[in-house]
Amino acid sequence: MSIEIRKRVLVTGGAGFLGSHLCDRLVAAGNDVVCVDNFYTGAKENIVDLRDKPNFELIRHDITFPLYVEVDEIYNLACPASPVHYQHDPVQTTKTCVHGAINMLGLAKRTGARILQASTSEVYGDPEVHPQQESYWGRVNPIGIRSCYDEGKRCAETLFFDYHRQYGLDIKVARIFNTYGPRMHPDDGRVVSNFIVQALKGDPITIYGDGSQTRSFCFVDDLIDAFLKLMKTDREVTGPVNLGNSGEFTIAELAERVVELVGSSSEIVYQPLPQDDPLQRRPDLTLADQLLDWRPKVDLEEGLRPVIDYFRGVLNSG
Ligand code: NAD
Ligand code: UDP
Repeated sequence: MSIEIRKRVLVTGGAGFLGSHLCDRLVAAGNDVVCVDNFYTGAKENIVDLRDKPNFELIRHDITFPLYVEVDEIYNLACPASPVHYQHDPVQTTKTCVHGAINMLGLAKRTGARILQASTSEVYGDPEVHPQQESYWGRVNPIGIRSCYDEGKRCAETLFFDYHRQYGLDIKVARIFNTYGPRMHPDDGRVVSNFIVQALKGDPITIYGDGSQTRSFCFVDDLIDAFLKLMKTDREVTGPVNLGNSGEFTIAELAERVVELVGSSSEIVYQPLPQDDPLQRRPDLTLADQLLDWRPKVDLEEGLRPVIDYFRGVLNSG
């Protein structure tokens, strides 16, 4: 019989969308979980069920400042992920990506903890290579409105690999493609939450551009499975590794699916495409399959249903 060893695990951004699902899983597996969040986009409701667990602890803290805790593993998720939120205070976004990474890497160096970085498909920018493989260096505008996030996350990856080369740190870098699920913020401006909330309210569905741009959408449970598997890999496995779902949809197709599943009478309206909005995005998941023996299980329609139910509950209660 194999016994799971209890670890002390730090999750930065643990009160956010992905972080709270990760905390749920880590706590259920018996780990001692320290959740750190400054509540910029996170919410206490996301972790309300964990509050009274003896193996869960919450610290309100901004990772742009140093943190002193003793842990075995660190998942560094703290950073606003929606364009609306990361562009609201772009200087703070870069600080969170870069100073936050330096502080968390420093913590990993002092404690000897293994550290996983929540990086992003945004490091590929508006790609000329399709689907995107980890070997592709990307096409990112360094001075645009998305740069605070894209370049911040790219610099964080650089820091992770320099700490690995220079100090032998045990690092894992995950490049996450668009992920959705319950606990996304209803106002966070990302396309899945926007379309579902608009459809449920009967408001117009706002397609930016002509809707021909593509994204690949991964359900949150699949992504958390991959996080946990990546953290458990041998020391030599550093990534970067793409995590997501390779089903690719135009934004217009997503709008149609949502309207259909909600049974909504919302009309579609077209608004200008934001600057530097990538035209296509789909992960090549070959490496994740090889390294982690992992592939996403939940297709878009199956994943949208619980999210629609979740937002229905949120709208009914508020
Ligand atoms: P989210 O906005 O729901 O969660 C981010 C959390 O970090 C929030 O709880 C926020 O309050 C917290 N935070 C922000 N700045 C902080 C700071 N300086 N100090 C402490 N806490 C801070 O977003 P999410 O979708 O859960 O994303 C989590 C991570 O995954 C982010 O790093 C994001 O870049 C990455 N990611 C997410 C996606 C996705 O599709 N969801 C895609 C690519 C990458
Ligand atoms: N989008 C849209 N309508 C919305 C919100 C987003 O058409 O109400 C588009 C957006 O322009 C982009 C895609 O949907 O092309 C995904 O946007 P999101 O903000 O979810 O993520 P990202 O652009 O970071 O992949």
